[in-house]
Amino acid sequence: MADFTTDVRYIKGIGEARAKSLQKLGITDLRGLISYFPRAYEDRRAFRRIADLVPGENACVRAIVAGEPTLSHIRKGLDLVKLRVVDESAALDLTYFNQSYLKGSFRTGEEYVFYGRAEGDLLRRRMTNPLFEPVGEERITGRIMPIYPLTAGVSQTVLSKAIRQGLDACADDLSDFLPEEVRAEHRLCHVRYAYENIHFPADDEALAVARRRLVFEELYLLTLGLRLLRNRRDAVTGQVCRAVPLTPFYDALPFTLTGAQRRAIEDAARDMCSPRPMNRLVQGDVGSGKTMVAAAAVWFAAQSGLQSALMAPTEILAEQHYKTLAPLLESLGVRCALLTASTPAKTRRSMLAQLQDGEITLAIGTHALLSPDVQYQNLGLVVTDEQHRFGVGQRAALGAKGDDPHLLVMSATPIPRTLALMIYGDLDVSLIDELPPGRQHIDTFAVNTSYRKRIYDFVRKLVGEGRQAYIVCPMVAENDELPDERKAVTAYAEKLRREVFPDLSVAPIHGRMKAKEKEQTMRAFAAGEIDVLVSTTVVEVGVDVPNAAVMLIENAECFGLSQLHQLRGRVGRGQHKSYCILVSDNAGEDNRRRLAVMTKTNNGFEIAEEDLKLRGPGDFFGSRQHGLPSLRVADLTCDMELLHESRAAAERLLADDPELAAHPMLRRRIDELFELKSASMN
Ligand code: ADP
Ligand code: MG
Repeated sequence: MADFTTDVRYIKGIGEARAKSLQKLGITDLRGLISYFPRAYEDRRAFRRIADLVPGENACVRAIVAGEPTLSHIRKGLDLVKLRVVDESAALDLTYFNQSYLKGSFRTGEEYVFYGRAEGDLLRRRMTNPLFEPVGEERITGRIMPIYPLTAGVSQTVLSKAIRQGLDACADDLSDFLPEEVRAEHRLCHVRYAYENIHFPADDEALAVARRRLVFEELYLLTLGLRLLRNRRDAVTGQVCRAVPLTPFYDALPFTLTGAQRRAIEDAARDMCSPRPMNRLVQGDVGSGKTMVAAAAVWFAAQSGLQSALMAPTEILAEQHYKTLAPLLESLGVRCALLTASTPAKTRRSMLAQLQDGEITLAIGTHALLSPDVQYQNLGLVVTDEQHRFGVGQRAALGAKGDDPHLLVMSATPIPRTLALMIYGDLDVSLIDELPPGRQHIDTFAVNTSYRKRIYDFVRKLVGEGRQAYIVCPMVAENDELPDERKAVTAYAEKLRREVFPDLSVAPIHGRMKAKEKEQTMRAFAAGEIDVLVSTTVVEVGVDVPNAAVMLIENAECFGLSQLHQLRGRVGRGQHKSYCILVSDNAGEDNRRRLAVMTKTNNGFEIAEEDLKLRGPGDFFGSRQHGLPSLRVADLTCDMELLHESRAAAERLLADDPELAAHPMLRRRIDELFELKSASMN
């Protein structure tokens, strides 16, 4: 007897090869199979008489094969099977390409259902490659059919047949883990009905009912999981800081903080003075000055004798943070150290020793700062920059390091409020919604490559005025291979140097360079020794060169809106008028609209909202980014009501049963989804 955990190869028609393909879709067992939901549906219910077929429309016809099909061999690689079918109203000519075996599949005089797109005119009606099956045995015609996201090696038919079998095999196993009273109160159908009808809806209403149930379930589980994570952190005690005034820190700064920065700093300070460890997200657009919030928190913790770790996603960024923060914090008596993979072994040993005996107060580096070989005397605060590479699971695992440090997460990825609610359900949020004074609007242009010469002239003119430029180089993938960024960047830089800017200093930078080389290049660029920096998205996050005034992005169609916005944020960081030029030859409507959003606004939150509208929330929910279970059915742009309803329900349940002790099935499902048990640092 099959159950959820049965391997997909149990299904008839799924052998080794297809099992491998299915694995690419994340399907290995029957549960995965039946939880693989359609992305769309095709309504094949419309039946027409042949005479009533409307050219361009899809429809089913019930018709009799009027004569023996003919097979003609047109040329190598092109075989046609043709046949004529009739109903009481008219005749229809069918053509099948390269399926010569079909010649023997039709019996003259027999009646079939055909489904396809009607072509031709009143005199000659045609269909090409219509689906067909004998009347009385309809399974793929005359109904609403699921359409699944595919991968090579599995077709819609294979998948829908496999799912049909999967449902039949383990439908009885599908017990409902939503509490009975929740289902009753929110009018949710049983899970068995939901699974059946999300795949093979009997009609529109059944589909709506099924979907509603699954969306509710998904959002309910997500809320419960996030709340459990949060409760878990509430239950531990962190290190309580002394409430010292922040004035000495403020006084040491070369500028006045914005109101939003001060609010975020005060939020953090307040959190750290309470016994519950801080768990705060600082969200602010690029250039809003989040680093100073981090600095303030580090300083504040240091006043209570606590060490801090500041983690950046890349070494370059860690180095940059070190360079900005060390002078400031050291002048305030906070000793800082930069600890990266390129730190020489000897220095590293001595730093580790000093961290362990508390001589160093702030360690700056990458995730490696949390590895077991880095021991702190008294780690009280962990700051992560660019949170999206630091998922929920990792946050949960922080406590496991034993010290329950305060946690401050900084994100420049502007996430729409509705999503932030879900993604950061276990975090408190400080919003920096104000830019430091004097920031320039970045003029943005979207052009195609016919403007290339003018673009280059423009770059040259700005460089002539003493500015610097970023050029994000085109990344063309060869075949299926991941593009080789090193090759792409160096070749493009070389071409620019030879053919376009022979008189300027042009240098490449890419992720495959040694940390030291990158560092040297970035330093040279920051010092103004390089005019044009050619890069991949290495410059995407954080790096600060105020003299850079133009960001030129090739193949802009390859980037998401938020990514483009991040890239653009690399310029306009000084007092100079700055520009962003988006080059794209893709004239598609989607791309045009995306780039138009960029030229219209500089506001990261508006851009994120647009991004959400254009792409849907899937990308924000890539589980790799957040460590959250991904949403399979819910669409937060249109399921807001259900979101609120399910959240309220989740909160009510937890109020009565905080650990879900009385709902073991539900609890188990959440633990699986969030991998709460196995949460680890990597
Ligand atoms: P982000 O939020 O993108 O991390 P940063 O912290 O890197 O922004 O700050 C961007 C730039 O603005 C830095 O050069 C920083 O020194 C400067 N800055 C930050 N806060 C202020 C402020 N209140 N007034 C003027 N400049 C500021
Ligand atoms: Mg930053």
